[in-house]
Amino acid sequence: LAARLGNLLMLRELFDRLAAQHELVKEMALRDGLTSLHNRYHLMAEMPRLIDEAHAKAMPLTLLVVDIDHFKKINDQHGHSRGDAVLVAVAEILRGIVRGQQVLVRYGGEEFVLALPGTTTLQAGLGAERLREKIAAANPDGIPVTASFGIATLPPVYATVETLLDVADAALYEAKRSGRNSVVSDRDSA
Ligand code: GH3
Ligand code: MG
Ligand code: MG
Repeated sequence: LAARLGNLLMLRELFDRLAAQHELVKEMALRDGLTSLHNRYHLMAEMPRLIDEAHAKAMPLTLLVVDIDHFKKINDQHGHSRGDAVLVAVAEILRGIVRGQQVLVRYGGEEFVLALPGTTTLQAGLGAERLREKIAAANPDGIPVTASFGIATLPPVYATVETLLDVADAALYEAKRSGRNSVVSDRDSA
């Protein structure tokens, strides 16, 4: 009996360790190693719930896409590791403004996405404008940095994460085209 109990306890301990490692692997898969922000997989996992909630509560849901301007030049002029430092600095500025149910991810390369439940296009535009100024004033590692912003809001944008991202990307493209260091929303052209 003692031997069986011992075996059970050992099994239990093994199971707990496996479960803890599973949690760790899951967490690592959803985070970005450089900035320690969540990554795009986390955003994709969270969006269906945020979209459902926006519908259920008849509240807006805004996606804000942030893309560093001429980042390739920053790498070319200052080297990849100082480029990394710029990414970390911008990530910290973004992290500093995130509240409550808002989701912030490093979506890829030098692009970040914020999902803002209960936030209108107008409110997101004001917030983005403040962020734009903060980033332009930060001079991380002595390197001048600016970013461009694209905004899409549900409603009226049709409610899939892909559509919201596409519309925010189109707005971002417009911000780039109009000279960068600027904020454009899906309403601006309407
Ligand atoms: P735009 O103003 O139009 O956004 O131009 P851009 O140069 O910022 O955009 P582009 O997509 O041409 O270049 C992005 C660069 O970001 C290219 C890639 O080498 C660099 N990059 C992506 N991930 C990392 C990273 O983790 N660290 C560093 N240092 N650079 C990265
Ligand atoms: Mg860029
Ligand atoms: Mg980009």
